[in-house]
Amino acid sequence: MEKEEAIAKLEQTLIPNGGYPIHTFDDLKVLYYPYITNEADRKLIEEAYLLAEKKHAGVFRKSGEPYIVHPIEVAYITAQLNSGPTTICAALLHDTVEDTDLTIEDIQSQFGEDVAGIVDALTKIQRMKLSRYDQEEFEAEDHRKIFLGMAKDVRVIIVKLADRLHNLRTLNSLKPERQYALSKETLEVFTPIAHRLGLYKMQSEMEDLCLKRVEPDAYAHIVKLLDENTENRAESLNALKKRIADAIYEQHIPFRMESRVKSIHSIYRKMYLKSYEFENLYDVLAIRVITDTDINCYEILGMVHAMYKPIPGRFKDYIAVPKPNMYQSLHTSIISGDGNIYEIQIRTEKMDEIAESGVAAHWKYKEGSYNPKEEQKDIENSLHWFRDFVSMSGSQDGDAKEYMAALSNDIFNANVYVFTPKGKVIDLPTGATILDFAYRIHTKVGDSAVGGKVNGNFVPLNTELHTGDVCEIRTSKTTSGPNDSWLEIAKTKSAKSHIKRAIMKKRAEMMKDDNIQRGKEMLLELFKSNDKGEGEMNNLIEANQARIYENYHVESIDEFFAAIGNKSIQANLIIDFLGARKKTRSLKLSKHDSRNDDKYPVYIENAGRIAISLAKCCTPVPGDEIVGYISKGKGVAIHRCDCPNIADAGGRLLHDVHWKDNLGASVYPVDVQVQAEDHVGMLADVLAVLSARGVNCADLRAKLIKNTRDVLISIKIYISDSRTLEDTFSALKGIKGVYRCERVIH
Ligand code: MN
Repeated sequence: MEKEEAIAKLEQTLIPNGGYPIHTFDDLKVLYYPYITNEADRKLIEEAYLLAEKKHAGVFRKSGEPYIVHPIEVAYITAQLNSGPTTICAALLHDTVEDTDLTIEDIQSQFGEDVAGIVDALTKIQRMKLSRYDQEEFEAEDHRKIFLGMAKDVRVIIVKLADRLHNLRTLNSLKPERQYALSKETLEVFTPIAHRLGLYKMQSEMEDLCLKRVEPDAYAHIVKLLDENTENRAESLNALKKRIADAIYEQHIPFRMESRVKSIHSIYRKMYLKSYEFENLYDVLAIRVITDTDINCYEILGMVHAMYKPIPGRFKDYIAVPKPNMYQSLHTSIISGDGNIYEIQIRTEKMDEIAESGVAAHWKYKEGSYNPKEEQKDIENSLHWFRDFVSMSGSQDGDAKEYMAALSNDIFNANVYVFTPKGKVIDLPTGATILDFAYRIHTKVGDSAVGGKVNGNFVPLNTELHTGDVCEIRTSKTTSGPNDSWLEIAKTKSAKSHIKRAIMKKRAEMMKDDNIQRGKEMLLELFKSNDKGEGEMNNLIEANQARIYENYHVESIDEFFAAIGNKSIQANLIIDFLGARKKTRSLKLSKHDSRNDDKYPVYIENAGRIAISLAKCCTPVPGDEIVGYISKGKGVAIHRCDCPNIADAGGRLLHDVHWKDNLGASVYPVDVQVQAEDHVGMLADVLAVLSARGVNCADLRAKLIKNTRDVLISIKIYISDSRTLEDTFSALKGIKGVYRCERVIH
């Protein structure tokens, strides 16, 4: 840099105050043309501008300018960060979906998925935020989490921050209450995010604009102190700068120089939150020397210390030991010739760029678990990543895109944040379900959960949750609670381990000695009534051990007895299972087989010609597990094995009962109940699902359940087999509002 140039830079010293220039689209071009050189990208940005201008035409902002000024300024701010074409397009279009008739689909077809994705996220953030603002139990930290959770993509954050910054710059046209609310929200939600992204310049401008509204007295006081101070010191400052510049120039070290006034908000923090006196803030006025290499930084430091007396304890070497947020610089405070104290900051261009525009290194570290060793290792990567994403051009190859997607995924998808109906925020790992949510509320809620509501819709327990969902749990006192399938549904460790404990406890409960004893006695009683003794019972059990384990899903004979004792296995079925039934005269069955009797869908081994009917109570269909019930003079009625009406049938049951193969197109009636939250067209939806599957129905009845918005639909449907029935049930459960669907046993 030539001396004249360096000196000219010296003149641009004091921070401009108030009065923002209004940029045109041509000004924006000047900004991005140097780094967006691809013609297709440039064309896309122009198209975005033309579309935004057309859509916002005739609309004016509260400040009086045409609306298009706002998106241009937002795009301008993103371009100052060297954002790529996708981000700039999204910035130009960011208000079109919310404020005009343009749709996300329109944007997607013209500008592609990425731009549409960013605009979509921004639109959602805009809507959600407003609706959930005044909720109780709502913390600033929660706001930040939700915002990050919804953003999903760093570019969404960049545009949102730029949008907010421009709104703050033009805040004066809003009502004072709105000015205050927006400023407070910005300080709580957005500036910490800007800080973590390393967008210090943006952060500091936003903080100052907000402080002016949130703490107007403190703000005015600090401005007054600054004015007095900088005015008095302008001459002394310039003399100091000139002397340092001359010295560096003599040594032929390339450099440029700036001076900066400490931001009002950071003075506020020192004075009002840390009780410093203004006079003791040595860094209110700082001179910044920017050079090319690390070595020259130390060279310049040596020169400064040779010319001026440094203040002990004020020298900081952030080059050798960078701050956790990757800030690097040398800081020292010196006493100038006329007795004033100044801070001198010395750094390279690269360090200066990081300090102004930031790096996203911080994102990689969750708060509270920061590890300096890991950080050193990751600095290079993070820097690389941040550069990649801000300058990523649409024409770049797939690798870079994938790399960015993977990193964004790490950062944004680590958690989902959902609301209780009262607005409390619950954070859960990605993939967590409504069951995890239930256990997070309380283990008792989890244990008795039967389903939930997400954003007002009934959903089953395995429903995956997304950030922004409002969740509610439906519980029931009569539910049997945790079971093995819940271990699949739950994703959080805490819920899983609780479910495991609950299942083990249930099992232990069942395995209590008196259950085992009772089961043994019950079975022995039945053996005795079939003329068999304890010895015979034990022999049969021993001989059939493997079959018992498999058929009754038990892991020991004691567990088998316990299950009989607490009635989860029906004792009378075991007699037949073990072949211990006493032959009775009424059951003298011939060697003929009913298999050839085409009338029936079922055959009974060794039963001869016998009348067979399907029970009306449990309406079995092919594929169901079945058992025959012998009723005198009426033949055999086929029931489902779990039908309660045959629980005490004992010796009247036949077990060698089978569905025939190849039943053709026959259908069988099944009584079904569907429970749902009622809405207009509910019944029509149910009928549509049935007719789409070719399922006929009869006897449709619907009644509203008292004191709820729920409706209970009873319906008889005709079904060919149990698998079709399952499919039909899943389809019915897919209807909006339906949360229960089951077979009825009369
Ligand atoms: Mn906007």
